[in-house]
Amino acid sequence: MHQNSMLRQSQQLNPECPICNHKYDIQRIQILDENEQGVLTHFSCKNCFASFLATIVETPFGHMASGLLTDLCADEVLKFAEQDTINNDDVLEIHEMLEKNQFNFNE
Ligand SMILES: [Zn+2]
Repeated sequence: MHQNSMLRQSQQLNPECPICNHKYDIQRIQILDENEQGVLTHFSCKNCFASFLATIVETPFGHMASGLLTDLCADEVLKFAEQDTINNDDVLEIHEMLEKNQFNFNE
């Protein structure tokens, strides 16, 4: 199914901002990624400026959308998506640096 059609149908599922109930403007929805599993979108409410990430998938029962509130802009989502994930060693390294007071937050 064409992605704009998918977005339009998904928009019908939840056409309002969950924060302020303002109607979404479908033209403001940015498609960040798409694959055979679905479409990743980012949009901001022009009324309350809340931003959301949503995935839209096609199921045998129709289109399903699930979203979450984010403070990331679309560019930041793509930037962080390309970075390596944090592993246990990274967490331990940060923990050790904090214990040794090796951070200087004033720089
Ligand atoms: Zn809103």
